[in-house]
Amino acid sequence: MDTIVEISCVSHDREVTLRSIGEAFKEIERIEKLFNRYDDKSEVSRVNAVAGIEEVSISPELFGLIERSIHYSAVSGGSFDITVMPLVDVWRVAKERGSIPDEDEINTIVGHVGYKKILLDSDSLTIRFLDKDTKIDLGGIAKGYAVDRAKDVLVSGGIKDALINIGGNIFAMGNAPGRDGWHIGIQDPRHKRDIAYRLKLKNKAVSTSGDYERFFILGAKRFSHIINPLTGKPAEGVISTTIVSDSAEQADALSTAVFVLGVKKGTDLIRSFEGTEVFIFNEDSKLISFPFL
Ligand code: AMP
Ligand code: MG
Repeated sequence: MDTIVEISCVSHDREVTLRSIGEAFKEIERIEKLFNRYDDKSEVSRVNAVAGIEEVSISPELFGLIERSIHYSAVSGGSFDITVMPLVDVWRVAKERGSIPDEDEINTIVGHVGYKKILLDSDSLTIRFLDKDTKIDLGGIAKGYAVDRAKDVLVSGGIKDALINIGGNIFAMGNAPGRDGWHIGIQDPRHKRDIAYRLKLKNKAVSTSGDYERFFILGAKRFSHIINPLTGKPAEGVISTTIVSDSAEQADALSTAVFVLGVKKGTDLIRSFEGTEVFIFNEDSKLISFPFL
C-alpha cells in the first residue's frame, strides 16, 4: 500500500495475540493484491483493462467497495471519485518531468473522468465503463477498508484492545494500556513535531488526508496528490483534513472528499453524517473543526 502498517494489541496472551496480528497482516496483504492498480495481476487492473470494452464479472468484495465509492461520490458532489485515475497519472508524470501538464490535455482527460461512467449490475455482479478511457483507482478508500477488515480479524481472534494504522488510517479498539480509549494526536501539518489537538478514541476510526505526506513542488508551488475530479487539478485551499467516524473506510473516503471540498462545503458534508467529526487545517494553518472545539 506504499505506506507503513502498524498493529498494536494489548493482551495477556502473547502467542494468541501474535497469531492474530499475523492474520491481520495477511488480510491486509490479500486486500492489497485485489485492489492495487499498479499490480497487473490485481482484480482492479483486470477491470481497468477490460471494463471500457465489455462487461467484467467481479468479486462481491470489489463490487461492494466500488458501490460504496460511488455513494461517496454522489454525496460529495463528485469530489470523491475513483475514476480520477487518469488524472492522478498525468500529474504523476508531470512531477517526474518537472513541469505542469498542458491545459488541453487535462481538459481531455476530465472528459473521461466521472463516477457516472461506471455501470454496476448487482444481479450479474458485473462492471462496465461507459467510456473506453475510464479507469479506477481505489487509493482514496482502500486503506480505510483494509483497516476495517484487519479489525474484524483481530475481533475474531478475541482481541479487544488494539490500534491499527495504515498510513494515517486508524482504528482504535477498546483501550490503550491503563487508559480510557486511545489518545491520538493530530499533527500540526506545517510543524510536524507539534500536536495541534489530541483526540480520545474508543472503538472509532480516524483518517487524515494531507498535502504534507504526499505532495510535490513544481516551480514554487506545492501540489497535493489529491485531485479535484471536476477541474482536473490538484485540490487547493486546505493543508489537511481529519475525519473521525465509526468505520475507517468512511473516514478514509470522507477525508479525501473534504480535502477537495474545502472548509465550508466539507464541514457541511460531515455534519450530514451522524457520529462523524471533522478537523481541517486551512491554508493559513488554522484548525477548524466540527463539532467545534
Ligand atoms: P487519501 O490519501 O486517502 O486522501 O487518498 C489519496 C489517493 O486517492 C491518491 O493517491 C489517489 O490514488 C486517489 N485520489 C486522488 N484524488 C482523489 C479523489 N478526488 N477521489 C478519490 N480518490 C482520489
Ligand atoms: Mg482517503
